[in-house]
Amino acid sequence: MRKLPVFLVIDVSESVAGPLQQSITQGMKTIVSGLRTDPQALESVHMSVIVFAGKAQVLVSMVELANFYLPSLPIGGGTSLNAALTTLMGEIDTHVVKGSSTQRSDWKPMVFLITDGVPTDSRTDAIDKWQAQYASKATLVSVSIGGGADHSLLRKLSDDIVVLANASEDTLVKFFQWISQSVSIQSNAVANRKPADGVDLSKNLPSGAVSLAKSDDDGVPQSVDDRLAIFVARCQRTEAPYLMRFERQGPTGDNARYALRQTLPLTDDYFELCDEHASGSAKISTSQLEGFPGCPHCGTHIAMVECTCRKMHCIDGPGMATCPWCGSSQNFVAAEKGSSIDFSRGLG
Ligand SMILES: [Zn+2]
Ligand SMILES: [Zn+2]
Repeated sequence: MRKLPVFLVIDVSESVAGPLQQSITQGMKTIVSGLRTDPQALESVHMSVIVFAGKAQVLVSMVELANFYLPSLPIGGGTSLNAALTTLMGEIDTHVVKGSSTQRSDWKPMVFLITDGVPTDSRTDAIDKWQAQYASKATLVSVSIGGGADHSLLRKLSDDIVVLANASEDTLVKFFQWISQSVSIQSNAVANRKPADGVDLSKNLPSGAVSLAKSDDDGVPQSVDDRLAIFVARCQRTEAPYLMRFERQGPTGDNARYALRQTLPLTDDYFELCDEHASGSAKISTSQLEGFPGCPHCGTHIAMVECTCRKMHCIDGPGMATCPWCGSSQNFVAAEKGSSIDFSRGLG
C-alpha cells in the first residue's frame, strides 16, 4: 500500500504560547477528525508532527491516520527554521519509501509549515539543502500566522505562502479545515491515478487567509523577535519555569514600550527545545515595560527579579531569597522609585 505522507511542522516558540497554541492544537484535531471521515484518506494518509523552537523535535513519528494521537504541544525558546528543516529531511529519509525495482515509492509528501515567528538564527544550510534535494519531491506550503513571519526566508522554501492575517481561532479552524480538504483531495486523486500535483493555493482558501504572490516584503533574520518581550523565570518555591509575555505598543527601537499580556506556567520540557547556543544578550529596561506580572506557580506578585547569574525568578517580598537557577542567596531590597533595571529578554 502506497502511503500519502503528511508532515505538520509547527512553530512552538514562546511567541506562539497561550491562546494561539491552543487554536493550533484545536486546528490539528480538526484535520485529523476531518480526514478520518474520508475512507480514501483513512487508507492512505500517514501523519507526522514535528515541532520546533530553538531546536526541533519529532512529536509524532509517522503513523497511519487511524492510530494518530496528538499529544499536547510543548513550548521552547527561539525560532530555528533551519533546525525544523533538518529534522523534517531526516524524517522524510526515514519514513518515505523511495521507489526501487522491487518496491513502489510512496506518494509525494505534503508538508505544512506553520509559523508565526521571525527566525532567530541566521543559519540557512538546511534551507539550501531542502531546495537542492527535497523541494521537487515534496509539496511544501508555508503558513504565516498573524503575518509576522519572515516571508523572504519562507519564500526560499516554497513559492506559495499562505498568510493568516489575523490569528483568531475562527480563521485558524477554517484554515485547518482547508488543509484537511487539501489532503483529502490529494488522497482521492492519487487513488484514482489522477495527476494531482500538490495543493492549489489559489482555490478555496477560507476568508481571512491570503495566498501571498511574488514580490517580497523583506524581513531580515534577527536574533530577537522585536514584536514581543518575553522573559522566562523560575518560581523560587517550586523551581518550575514560567513565561512572561509583553507585546510592543507602537514604534520599534530603544524607546519601544511593551505591555504585559500574559504569564504562563511552563514545565521543564521547555528547556529541551531551547537552543543553548543562542545568545541571550539582548536587554530591555523595566522602564519600557508596563504591567507587573505575578508568579503563575506560587501566586506571589513579584515575579521579576534578576539574580547575579542573570536569570529571573519570583520572590515573596524584600529579604533573602535563593535563586532556583544557581542556588545562590541574595538579599533583595525594594527598588527606589523611578529607578529602572535592565533585564535579559528571551529570543521569542
Ligand atoms: Zn513563584
Ligand atoms: Zn542565580
